[in-house]
Amino acid sequence: MKGDYASTGLIFKEPLLWEKGRKGRRAFSMPERDVPEAEALPEGLAGEGPDFPDLSELEVVRHYTRLSQWNFGVDSGMYPLGSCTMKYNPKIHEKLAALPGFAMAHPLLPESLSQGALGLMYELQQMLKAITGLDAVSLQPAAGAQGELCGMMLFEACFRARGEKRHKIIIPDTAHGTNPASAALCGMKPVALRSGADSILHPEDVAALMDEHTAGIMITNPNTLGLFESNMAAIAAIVHEKGGLVYCDGANMNAVMGYVDMKRMGVDVVHFNLHKTFSTPHGGGGPGAGPVCVRAELEPFLPLPRIVKNERGYGLKEDCPLSIGRLHAFYGNFGVLLKAWAYIRSLGADLKKVSELAVLNANYIRSGLKDTYDVAYDGICMHECVFSDKTLKILGVTTLDVAKRLIDLGFHPPTVYFPLVVSGALMVEPTETETREELDRFMEAMRRIREEAEENPEILKSAPLRTKVRRLDETAAARNPCLCGR
Ligand SMILES: *Cc1c(COP(=O)(O)O)cnc(C)c1O
Repeated sequence: MKGDYASTGLIFKEPLLWEKGRKGRRAFSMPERDVPEAEALPEGLAGEGPDFPDLSELEVVRHYTRLSQWNFGVDSGMYPLGSCTMKYNPKIHEKLAALPGFAMAHPLLPESLSQGALGLMYELQQMLKAITGLDAVSLQPAAGAQGELCGMMLFEACFRARGEKRHKIIIPDTAHGTNPASAALCGMKPVALRSGADSILHPEDVAALMDEHTAGIMITNPNTLGLFESNMAAIAAIVHEKGGLVYCDGANMNAVMGYVDMKRMGVDVVHFNLHKTFSTPHGGGGPGAGPVCVRAELEPFLPLPRIVKNERGYGLKEDCPLSIGRLHAFYGNFGVLLKAWAYIRSLGADLKKVSELAVLNANYIRSGLKDTYDVAYDGICMHECVFSDKTLKILGVTTLDVAKRLIDLGFHPPTVYFPLVVSGALMVEPTETETREELDRFMEAMRRIREEAEENPEILKSAPLRTKVRRLDETAAARNPCLCGR
């Protein structure tokens, strides 16, 4: 792929990796050979090798150190990307994941030699059951969206076993965008449900849509406006009455741990985002884990293999004739499962406090900024708060301008233009790991941007000014990334 500086808008024309180094330069030294030279590889087995630059060790160290400094992460500053739960990930988890017994365990080891890993996964399942109040768990799905897909496959399998076919699924306008996509992948037709004037769902609106051809409902709770769906149990009763099932997108679990019992709320299937709530670094897009918890009726359909406890210790169960089959190689992303186990074990009952602080921090920001920016919903929120562009539009300033200027002031931008039900949404999720001083600094930056919008909007239009690249065509950058320096 061709990439030139002009098109990427690089401000500093420093040479990229492929323009560094010199032929023959090396970053290693080998002792002199004291064994006979091996015979040449047979014809066809020896290749040319990749066209990598020849560099000294120092050049390599400087290159990667510099790249890390150009990047922004939770370890460098507040990252209030709504719905993504960019909390601090304790470094001890990396140490635990690197313990040789875990890191070097081969996925094909016999059960007798992998009791530690299997036991850890079994215990994690028990903990996730306790957190949701549900009956059975699969750790297989590799992401939230795959958990949703798994959930829809479980719905389908359950209806098949009942001798029914249902192809419609109710999805509220405040659902996460992956919900309708996962349902559609499974051959279901999403039916839109509008939330009420108070931005939450109402039983009578569900009753009007729910019938015997509808598989059920997929509810993101707390929803993408950061509000708790307090009518969930009544809605679930309506869906169950017509033979339907209730899916809860539990990616926002950070707000409600220890406070909600999914079973009592009428949920049949819920997925977690372990990489969000239970602290695995996930800004770069993976690996993740999206376990699903289900009510007993759906257990026979869970993906394979199942992790079980038997007389020999822990084992894997493959003979489950009603199972939807495999979703992932082996057992899921083990490193992420291990970090979640460690996170839950280290906090114990204090998980409840995590949710309390996450909610407190979001409300601190909501009430601190509500006179400066228009809040989409003026009332107590859960773990995130959403502002609209109502008072910015008048000044000719967009949500994107605010987001880009925040980068100059040292913050990762919030989620923007989502949820779609809010005009020019700015969705802020501070998480529980930020201090009060940091939250104050963030609000100070937001107030300063508001002043600039009135006095000097040009500076917002040209932001970011302090980054390596300025405003990119984000769609093109994601679809046609320039991965080489030439
Ligand atoms: C992040 C998120 C998802 C998708 O999770 P992935 O792991 O990115 O696939 C689904 N729903 C909600 C509410 C989310 O915040």
